[in-house]
Amino acid sequence: MSDVTLTDQFGRSIEYLRISVTDRCNFRCTYCMPLEGLPWLPKADILSYEEIVAVVTQLAPLGLRRIRLTGGEPTIRPQLTSLVAQLRGVPGVSDIALSTNGVKLPELARPLRDAGLDRINMSADSLREDRIVAIARRNFPFDPVTSLVAAQDAGLSPIKLNVVVMRGVNDDEVADFARLTLDRPWHVRFIELMPVGDMRELTWDHVVPSAEILDRASAVDALTAADGPTRGNGPATYYRFPGAAGTVGVITPMTHTYCGTCNRVRLTADGRLRTCLFGDHEVNLRDALRAGEPLEPLFREALAGKPREHSLLQMQVGGLRALSQVGG
Ligand code: SAM
Ligand code: SF4
Repeated sequence: MSDVTLTDQFGRSIEYLRISVTDRCNFRCTYCMPLEGLPWLPKADILSYEEIVAVVTQLAPLGLRRIRLTGGEPTIRPQLTSLVAQLRGVPGVSDIALSTNGVKLPELARPLRDAGLDRINMSADSLREDRIVAIARRNFPFDPVTSLVAAQDAGLSPIKLNVVVMRGVNDDEVADFARLTLDRPWHVRFIELMPVGDMRELTWDHVVPSAEILDRASAVDALTAADGPTRGNGPATYYRFPGAAGTVGVITPMTHTYCGTCNRVRLTADGRLRTCLFGDHEVNLRDALRAGEPLEPLFREALAGKPREHSLLQMQVGGLRALSQVGG
């Protein structure tokens, strides 16, 4: 019998798996995907739900506790609720989260909750209709606040909202987003733009450092350091306005690294285990799974290669795969 925790070569125990269920998306966010899309994975290469559940079932006895479903946009894959229900049934898994652009939450929040989803991270980069269309480059009827309310009403908790801040694009909305936390128990997290993927319209000049983001949020009221949500604390640093229901957070991949406490690995839609979002080290689990071979030796091989920290700051724009391709 193996030990109950998976530990990498630097002693970080790995209990968190982000699973990309699709590389496709119904948006084309300027910082994530080119307008014409990406070379999508062939359907036969994508893990079936049964295969995803098989990976989780083999990882859970090794210490996997928390799962996040992501993509691409996970809600465009049919019957996502059935995947959630199957994952809920895997012994040892105590927390299932979803990352989504939120477009489908008004119809899906309740069925997903009923299937066993615990919580969501929703992404929205503007509260203004024309800007949402300009950034997502898709024209859906979409009001982020309606989607967040649907998630809250369905009982998903905690609710986190991720906002990628881009200079000259949406940095004038930082205070508006932060103000949402006054009355709602939501955790609004501002993310520094990362120079990954094929960002033809964005440059390093669009990156807004977290200190400036916090300065803009402070226009609402004084911010003081706060504890984040009790579940799913990730790389964000949290603050709160006096008496506010929610918190304001910043995620700072560009100005600080948080690799020292990184407890996560990623499973791509085509079944590769990646140990760092920005590295290119990956281990093919799909072929072993389809050949009926045990996955544990491959998990251990992957973790032995998990880098101490990423080298994003030394890289050039365009030098990395888009987050949608690696399950960002
Ligand atoms: N489609 C889902 C969504 O948008 O939440 C899940 C996948 S998306 C790749 C995951 C997160 O990555 C989103 O919060 C998105 O804003 C963020 N992201 C993608 N590209 C980014 C970039 N270049 N810089 C910063 N954040 C990025
Ligand atoms: Fe799609 Fe999410 Fe990438 Fe936007 S950030 S294009 S919603 S995967």
